[in-house]
Amino acid sequence: MEKAVLEAINEEAHPFDGELLQNQEPKHFTDACQRPLIMLRWRMRQCHYCSTSFDITKEGRFYRCGGCIE
Ligand SMILES: [Zn+2]
Repeated sequence: MEKAVLEAINEEAHPFDGELLQNQEPKHFTDACQRPLIMLRWRMRQCHYCSTSFDITKEGRFYRCGGCIE
């Protein structure tokens, strides 16, 4: 992992399992875009299309929930 990415991750107040930031509050796409380096490192995300919250380890892709990629 790039040093800049790791630094950005460390600046976030969330546990990091080596792959994803274990956030509780779903991350919205627009908000995630503020930090492009780590925008795909959030576990809980809000679907950009239907606003449903989802866990990326279980479903979905990027900022699209399981229901919106079918
Ligand atoms: Zn959706």
